[in-house]
Amino acid sequence: MFKHRVFFVLAFAFALAFADVFMPTVDIAWQASSAHAENSQVAAVRTGVYTYKGQGTVNTHWIETPGGGLVVIDVQRDLVHAREALAAVRAVGKPVRAILITHGHPDHYTGLGIFKQAFPEAVVYASAVTENTIRTDAYGYNAAEQKDAPEITPREFAVPGRILEGDVTLTIDGLLLIAREMGRAEANSVTVYYAPVSRDLYVGDLVMNRVHAFMGEGATGEWLAALDRVDAMFPNARVVHPGHGDSGAKQQLLADQREYLRTVRGFAAEEIARSGFTAAAKTATARRINERFRYVNPTGNADIVALGVDGLFQEFSRPTLTPIP
Ligand SMILES: [Zn+2]
Repeated sequence: MFKHRVFFVLAFAFALAFADVFMPTVDIAWQASSAHAENSQVAAVRTGVYTYKGQGTVNTHWIETPGGGLVVIDVQRDLVHAREALAAVRAVGKPVRAILITHGHPDHYTGLGIFKQAFPEAVVYASAVTENTIRTDAYGYNAAEQKDAPEITPREFAVPGRILEGDVTLTIDGLLLIAREMGRAEANSVTVYYAPVSRDLYVGDLVMNRVHAFMGEGATGEWLAALDRVDAMFPNARVVHPGHGDSGAKQQLLADQREYLRTVRGFAAEEIARSGFTAAAKTATARRINERFRYVNPTGNADIVALGVDGLFQEFSRPTLTPIP
């Protein structure tokens, strides 16, 4: 998700001391790196794979390539946090060969210009839908960000230069990466990237680990189907790296996201059956979601759950999807 509201830099100084907190469920060895040591907001998820958590959580991940470079995945929601992520990436001391954008929500692409300035040679990949969304500001988020927070928003948004034509296999600096278009789900297009060599799967916001889901797209049904497809498509994936929240074991993270979506859909269906598509039903649904999931709000916007309920009700108001009591 995307919205700016309150900016406060959380101290993650405890991150090193309690590093195991970040990856409690994954049976892999930790290995400290210089980048890890220098930037306490960076979790070295495993050797050669890093994550910068951003504000209110939005993850920038980066991977070391066999050729001595880096591949970066998603680039933060604003100039301040993009610069922090860039500093952490630079601390590895290797050039960025490519940047992969998972979807067209601005918390994942706003920092692109900063990264391109630092690494002009980097090729930026995105799906055709994502590229179009960023370039044309299809959601209107770019303009909204420029209006709401001009001091930390670029005047012009950089656009990915390389469109992924369908499902493709990329070899970037010796690193094999499989890109798969999962279609409309949390956003109008979500592209997932898989590194078979390490069995790392980067899913964008298909998974938001213990973070409230953004359901403004009104496509939680497609989202659930996309989770099933990801599960089937990558049977050997070991670690899932989400767009928000900590990385973790694939089955756990997919199961948690499914449970969230199924549960909130169930709440909405029950409240609609009880009192129709009304404000009272929305309020009751939001209250039940907040009681059931005491999760991080990824946006700094207190109304993320209410926003999600609006999306759910829109989705369910389609005649073929209206819940039958
Ligand atoms: Zn996001």
